[in-house]
Amino acid sequence: MEDKHMLMIPGPTPVPEKVLLAMAKHPIGHRSSDFSKIIAEINDGLKWLHQTKNEVLSLNVSGTGAMEASIINFVSPGDRVLVGVNGKFGDRWAQICEVFGLNTTRITAEWGQPLDTEEFRTHLEGDTNKEIKAVIITHSETSTGVLNDLETINKYIKDHGTALSIVDAVTSLGAYNIPIDDLDLDVVASGSQKGYMIPPGLGFICVSDRAWQAYETCKFPRFYMDLGKYKKANLKASTPFTPPVNLMYGLQTALQMMQRESLEGIFARHLRLTKATRAAVQALGLKLFAADDCASTAVTAIEPSPLSAEDIRKIMSSKYNIALAGGQDHLKGKIFRIGHLGFVSDRDVLTGIACLESTLTELGHKVQPQTGVKAAAAVMV
Ligand SMILES: *Cc1c(COP(=O)(O)O)cnc(C)c1O
Repeated sequence: MEDKHMLMIPGPTPVPEKVLLAMAKHPIGHRSSDFSKIIAEINDGLKWLHQTKNEVLSLNVSGTGAMEASIINFVSPGDRVLVGVNGKFGDRWAQICEVFGLNTTRITAEWGQPLDTEEFRTHLEGDTNKEIKAVIITHSETSTGVLNDLETINKYIKDHGTALSIVDAVTSLGAYNIPIDDLDLDVVASGSQKGYMIPPGLGFICVSDRAWQAYETCKFPRFYMDLGKYKKANLKASTPFTPPVNLMYGLQTALQMMQRESLEGIFARHLRLTKATRAAVQALGLKLFAADDCASTAVTAIEPSPLSAEDIRKIMSSKYNIALAGGQDHLKGKIFRIGHLGFVSDRDVLTGIACLESTLTELGHKVQPQTGVKAAAAVMV
């Protein structure tokens, strides 16, 4: 059947009809006063979502573009940085740092395990000459469904005193409480197709005063990705270059919807969907890839062995028109991932779990009827 596709991947995520309709309008001039009003409203909304007084910059890039801009504007070639690597996206941070010639120390943990906060403490406490310029963390590691302990690592960064915190919040912003100003985080990157309920195409970077000071002495060449241009434009409710005008219409509407739901409501919903998904998966006799105390509220990774993750994804897609994500790199075929991020409701998760249950039965996995749905529904009361 046409037009019944359901995204349960951790990005792109489903987009509300209101947002799609807001985007289905003629673009207007991005230098017009009408558009300037939209930018002003969006900038206020972004500050609300980030819980910050800092400027939140919007760039026409995907999340990785926001990550790259977060590096090349705040450190300089040869600078020492610590990078947490316990999955695909932590590894991507390290690759970006290495490409740009930073003195990169990878703090690794096995994929599926959280980063060891004590390793960060040891490195930061041992750095008496203050050579570490930045500590780079993927908060929610989408490839494994692990939520890293940003708060504790951030405490050690504060104790260090001079290192910047640079955070990938791509699948935690709008899914988990990150009070950026209270935590005093320096650079926080995110992307539109994850928690924002809009299609791909925008990257966001929230920048602290301390990071803007580092920007002043940063020696990387850059032009389109020069964040100073975006800050200057932001302060005039403008953009340095042509923004994706229609995507901004969508963002305006999505931020209004989010404000009506409230941050508390959004975080509670993501937590509930996470608990429901995890309870269902366990009741179905499948193994959760990340432990309860480090579970991402955006995505749940599942190890279905001896069943094949790819067989499960194939049936979910062909029979039920539900897209699940597979494993990345060495986890390909070993895990599948259920996204429950952004415009996702209890009904969506119950539907997904019911279809997963039927898929497992079809593959010969023995479960009592409605085991998963019952477990999920019990969390939702
Ligand atoms: C999706 C994602 C990104 C960005 O990926 P793009 O494809 O460039 O948008 C970065 N980090 C994490 C943790 C993500 O989930």
